[in-house]
Amino acid sequence: MKILVINAGSSSLKYQLFDMNNGEVLAKGLCERIGIDGAITHKRPGKDTFEKEVALPTHDEALALVLELLVSKEYGVVSSISEISAVGHRIAHGGEKYSRSSLIDDEAIAYLETIVPINPLHGPPAIKGIKACKRLMNNTPQVGVFDTSFYSDIEDFRTIYPLPYELYTENKIRRYGFHGTSHRYVSAKAAEMLGKDIKDLKIITCHLGNGSSITAVDKGVAIDTSMGFTPQEGIPMGTRSGSIDPSVIPYIMKAKNLSANEVEDLINRKSGLLGVSGISSDSRYVEDAAKKGDYRANLAVKMLANSIKKYIGSYVAELNGIDALVFTAGIGENSAMLRSMVCEDLDFFGIAIDSEKNATMPRGSQADISSDSARVKTLVIPTNEEYMIALDTLNFCKE
Ligand code: ADP
Repeated sequence: MKILVINAGSSSLKYQLFDMNNGEVLAKGLCERIGIDGAITHKRPGKDTFEKEVALPTHDEALALVLELLVSKEYGVVSSISEISAVGHRIAHGGEKYSRSSLIDDEAIAYLETIVPINPLHGPPAIKGIKACKRLMNNTPQVGVFDTSFYSDIEDFRTIYPLPYELYTENKIRRYGFHGTSHRYVSAKAAEMLGKDIKDLKIITCHLGNGSSITAVDKGVAIDTSMGFTPQEGIPMGTRSGSIDPSVIPYIMKAKNLSANEVEDLINRKSGLLGVSGISSDSRYVEDAAKKGDYRANLAVKMLANSIKKYIGSYVAELNGIDALVFTAGIGENSAMLRSMVCEDLDFFGIAIDSEKNATMPRGSQADISSDSARVKTLVIPTNEEYMIALDTLNFCKE
């Protein structure tokens, strides 16, 4: 069975076509600058890459081009689009309705439209991607896989903010959590690596990329996570501040005479690693500068490591102990320096890593980097959200 995975952004459309008989990626690519000028990169493992600048006025033209390439003589991987059994869509926000991956019919689209106010950045492009597939792929089932659905079991005392309760009932302001597909994937992989049933495990998963979040998983169920109403809450990120004293916001607005949009831009695009270091949002550059003794770069890295440590501590408390700590995504998978800073002096919790294993583990592979004496396993697991989306879509089709 072949499953197409679509991740539509405001001016981009990423895709991967999976053969689910063996989990192989047949083709993947990226349409960029949709609505601006347009370009596509289409790859097939082990074969030539197709790259072209081409006008892509809307997501419809982008998807039409993807479908054309997938069946083309030169760059194709299937003989007909009807070979694609279903499409899985990455959808950042499922609101309070979607506690699991679901079929996207007209009613679902109508619901997603109602929650655009609480998901203004990611909602509209995801809906465009779904509508393009519906128009161009006839009756192929469309399945939505939501970043928020992994968090639907988190109890209310952990999701409702200590604000006037009406802000929840009237404006839906509560914590939703994001990156759920990644945390779900790596926690399942961790159980697999440990040869245990996930129902017997307590796991903390750290997804550290441009956006970062930490999740506490008890018996396969997320019980708490660091992101909240938006993907802004939690630890400092590439350009996002993460959690700060909320009163800083109105203070800056008054002191710097900033509008709501300007302050939103400041905490989303000018803060985090970039804001503190003044060097980059890319942790590689910040870490390099820190190693060379740059004060602000060092401050940014220490701030990030300490914030992760604090979340680990609070989740160890909420879970009453853990069996495994997992690092994933760009920084989690690649930065031995950050992993070692986070895990330093956590032996009280049973967490200790082997510095040799941490430094020499092969990039892009999964690894157990715990020291032999550690009670808790510390694992590095490459995330694969697209595969998880394909798997959910496949399971949905089988039901
Ligand atoms: P996204 O959230 O956009 O999916 P990724 O998971 O790809 O992001 O992570 C991007 C982050 O990973 C960047 O900050 C990048 O610097 C970081 N990263 C990638 N490789 C390394 C490395 N070798 N050392 C430290 N950080 C790295």
